[in-house]
Amino acid sequence: MKIGVLALQGSVSEHRLCMELLNMDVVDVREPSDMNGLKGLIMPGGESTTLRKLLVNSGLWDAISGSDIPIMATCAGAILMGESDDVTFEKMDFRINRNYYGRQKDSFEKDIRIGNNQEFRGIFIRAPAIVSVGDGTEAIAWDGEMVVGCTMDRHMALTFHPELNDDLTFHQMWIEEL
Ligand code: GLN
Repeated sequence: MKIGVLALQGSVSEHRLCMELLNMDVVDVREPSDMNGLKGLIMPGGESTTLRKLLVNSGLWDAISGSDIPIMATCAGAILMGESDDVTFEKMDFRINRNYYGRQKDSFEKDIRIGNNQEFRGIFIRAPAIVSVGDGTEAIAWDGEMVVGCTMDRHMALTFHPELNDDLTFHQMWIEEL
């Protein structure tokens, strides 16, 4: 199965490695034609304002807006999937607050809760927060009462960085639905 990793900024090689470990064919996506034949697209973290500009300049903003390709979006990627005060793709039904936890120095690591009362080491880097979840969206990861991961259709949005530890749970969960 061919999976694209949006390769404009952020942790591209880490997501690529996760997908290779799951035996996927991985393609770097830098322009619209790179999306041909993909079963899914990963939108890595980075900085959402910069990412938005790079997407528009490369023509990928329109290509992604007009496509129903399943997307796994982490951190800045997740910001672009939900609704916020800035322009986003709004492909998923949740509201997100961009720099909820503060600045870069307020980044942190902690165990979060996933289905079946399992834990997952969440790495939050200048993370956004999902502040409300609509009816069409299913929560899949929590920090206390707060939702830190959700799915809608075949999209997945996570406010942390699952590609930065050696646990492939979320990447696996996403490709199982493709
Ligand atoms: N809060 C950042 C933003 O506004 C995202 C940080 C990240 O992707 N690690 O884009």
